[in-house]
Amino acid sequence: MRCPYCRFADSRVVDSREADDGQLIRRRRSCPECGKRFTTVEEAVLAVVKRSGVTEPFSRPKIIGGVRKACQGRPVDADALALLAQKVEETVRARGAAEIPSHEVGLAILGPLRELDEVAYLRFASVYRSFESLTDFEAEISALREDAAARARPGASEAAATT
Ligand SMILES: [Zn+2]
Repeated sequence: MRCPYCRFADSRVVDSREADDGQLIRRRRSCPECGKRFTTVEEAVLAVVKRSGVTEPFSRPKIIGGVRKACQGRPVDADALALLAQKVEETVRARGAAEIPSHEVGLAILGPLRELDEVAYLRFASVYRSFESLTDFEAEISALREDAAARARPGASEAAATT
């Protein structure tokens, strides 16, 4: 790794430690030329493969940007969006693949967004799943209603859990 101070082409690792529960490795490096020290961070790259075949690194800010549009005017704050992006990343990383199709990233957004805000969910789903008619909306809305009714029924969740 090139020294960021004097541009010398090499550096020596003087210390390595894991951070973020082993997600990252931080290395302390020292330049043999100017003697200055600097830190590098190593992280496994999770690549998102777009429909065009182009890959780009998974990015939480990008997830938040995409979902924020659907949340306009809804009571969803920045913390909730950050948490949603974290859930999406966990879901996607849990697949254990180094590359993931962008389609699956979209799918991973739908679940937590539905829990967060149903209107935002409908907006996002309508674009993501390219709803083409009122029927598509109606089908999605009745699915949401059925779920809400199931949750409201006393003991429904316990019954579901034991069967
Ligand atoms: Zn240097």
